[in-house]
Amino acid sequence: MRLIIFLVIYAGIVYAKQVPIVINTWAFTDSTQAAWNLLKRGGDAIDAVEIGCMTCEKLQCDGTVGFGGSPDENGETTLDALLFDGTTMNMGAVGALRRVKDVISVAKHVLINTGHSIVVGSQATEFAKRMGFTEEDLTTDRSKKIWTDWKNNRCQPNAWLAVLPDSNTTCGPYRPVQENDVYYNHWTHNYPHRRTREHFQRHSFSTNNHDTIGMIAIDANGKIVAGTSTNGMSHKIPGRVGDSPIPGAGGYADSKFGAASATGDGDIMMRFLPSFLAVEELRRGSTPSQAAWTAINRIKEYYPSFFGGIIVVNKQGEYGAACNGMDSFPFSVASQANEKVTVKRVTCK
Ligand code: ASP
Repeated sequence: MRLIIFLVIYAGIVYAKQVPIVINTWAFTDSTQAAWNLLKRGGDAIDAVEIGCMTCEKLQCDGTVGFGGSPDENGETTLDALLFDGTTMNMGAVGALRRVKDVISVAKHVLINTGHSIVVGSQATEFAKRMGFTEEDLTTDRSKKIWTDWKNNRCQPNAWLAVLPDSNTTCGPYRPVQENDVYYNHWTHNYPHRRTREHFQRHSFSTNNHDTIGMIAIDANGKIVAGTSTNGMSHKIPGRVGDSPIPGAGGYADSKFGAASATGDGDIMMRFLPSFLAVEELRRGSTPSQAAWTAINRIKEYYPSFFGGIIVVNKQGEYGAACNGMDSFPFSVASQANEKVTVKRVTCK
């Protein structure tokens, strides 16, 4: 009996030590700190993830979060974000948001002020304006230069496949290849198709040019929230929405079990709902590290060289991560156990 009482108290102490906790993708430590400052004062996990992602948006983390990054084919920056509440299983997300900087906060308004889950494009701009946000140009000198250099490089790389004129050498405008085009079969089923996708992936995804902040917070009440914010990928076809605002892909949470958030080649990753899969694995009894590797390995079965990483936390505040297509994947953590924001790294297999 005494042993049982001891174990219960011990388990309670361990639990209390790990949560609250905040963890986010990459070494975006200012964001971790901002979220932690709020969590340690007893703040709500939704507000913590909002302020954490907002910090990255303002700092333009790595140029891949917030305004002035990843210009699309027209030179415009558009933004994706998600807030997923694992207690109510309610969410708010925004895809391809134009001309408004504060995308995570707009996602919060979708969560709180609407019965919808995702709002996109120009109409998301109108929604944001109604919620009190300012419309402004998201272009900077930096994003203008990325776009001009790309144009001067015959629009390479780009995301077009099986089109004419050849998207490997020209800027378009393109049309789909048709059956009466010479080499139709070759274009649609063979080498150029694969080569173009791999070429685009290789040139578009690396730790230097492509990141999302994915953040998970568990507050003192045990509420678990996942969120993301990104400007997506450079040279995307206008209208492209990545994995970040898609529930189960960019992020997912269930306060009964834990949460996950992913970053990387969203066009591929969203097809496998890696965040959902990881949380399902927690439900089935996996550790966070096992759950993270299961999600990554599922994608790897089909796309062995894809670029991406995932962070996973269980409701006790234990965490793990997994990755592919880079040497190692950094993530940042602050918790009751260690209040100092620390950058950890998982080696990709
Ligand atoms: N997943 C994001 C996207 O594809 C970008 C990234 O995380 O690197 O839009």
